[in-house]
Amino acid sequence: MSQLRLNPLTGRWVTVSVDRLARPDEFLRERQPVETGPTRPCPLCPGHEEATAPSLEADGRAGEWSARVVPNRYPAFDGSEPMAVRNLGPVFTEAPASGIHEILVYRRRHDGGWADLDDGEAGQVMTALRDRFEDHARITAVRYTQAIVNHGKEAGASLAHPHGQLLGVPFVPGEVAEEEAGFRRFDGSCLLCTMAEAERDAGERVVHDGDGVLVVCPYWSGAPFEMLVVPDTHEPHLASADEDALAGAGRALRTVLRRLRDGVGDVAHNLVFHTLPHRHQDPFHWHVHVLPRVQSIGGFEQGTGVPINIVAPERAAARLSG
Ligand SMILES: [Zn+2]
Ligand SMILES: [Zn+2]
Ligand SMILES: [Zn+2]
Repeated sequence: MSQLRLNPLTGRWVTVSVDRLARPDEFLRERQPVETGPTRPCPLCPGHEEATAPSLEADGRAGEWSARVVPNRYPAFDGSEPMAVRNLGPVFTEAPASGIHEILVYRRRHDGGWADLDDGEAGQVMTALRDRFEDHARITAVRYTQAIVNHGKEAGASLAHPHGQLLGVPFVPGEVAEEEAGFRRFDGSCLLCTMAEAERDAGERVVHDGDGVLVVCPYWSGAPFEMLVVPDTHEPHLASADEDALAGAGRALRTVLRRLRDGVGDVAHNLVFHTLPHRHQDPFHWHVHVLPRVQSIGGFEQGTGVPINIVAPERAAARLSG
């Protein structure tokens, strides 16, 4: 069971596990990738669907899926009650961590990653994501849905089988609220439409331009080989993206992740899907961040939120543009 607690220094919410039954070292063990073998089959592999709750979303018939979404057995967010904030004192503010926590099994095979999907699979994964976003948007208590993929232990992957997660949360996370503020602050039409045009003109940070999507190492990259995937079609909500934009984004991700692996190595990375929060009407343009973990985060970055990037995006793009 989890609880939200407000950090009044930052104004940001923290999710705290308050399950008294779990010992701290059990939690640590759970963070390690689960070993699988003949006696302990992988619960996400085809043929072991009964190990997880029934699929919420799957293409193809049972056992023939290429992507499916199942509820997380250890949800960080759970329940449908609206966010009821309680003040237990001048600095103790909490709320139930209600919401949804799901696993997105985006690949049938136990090995590889998004870089190994074929065109059809890359599109089907994105359609499955879109469908889940639509469902989450119908639940009043869910104000924002964060989709992520953690690839590799250093990026936080807890199971070897390629998978991602969908977290429907009862508030708008600070990072997303800051991006919304950035779009509002921008003096022009759309911040990311303008960025795409400017990066195409500049040329030197473009990694991939095709599939109705532009992928760049952004000018403001905070980490080596960081990439931003921006669909050509302006659309604030991922849930409202058309079939072509979704399939294109899935394929473009596959292409640039393959280049990352070929050019830099099989580095751990996170994919972060950002969309306008459910039912918001503000300016936004949905996009995907590719965040490789080639450099560890030190005290300065932790303490200031100011990254020090040791590989300029121009050099990173030259290496990744193939
Ligand atoms: Zn597996
Ligand atoms: Zn736009
Ligand atoms: Zn973003």
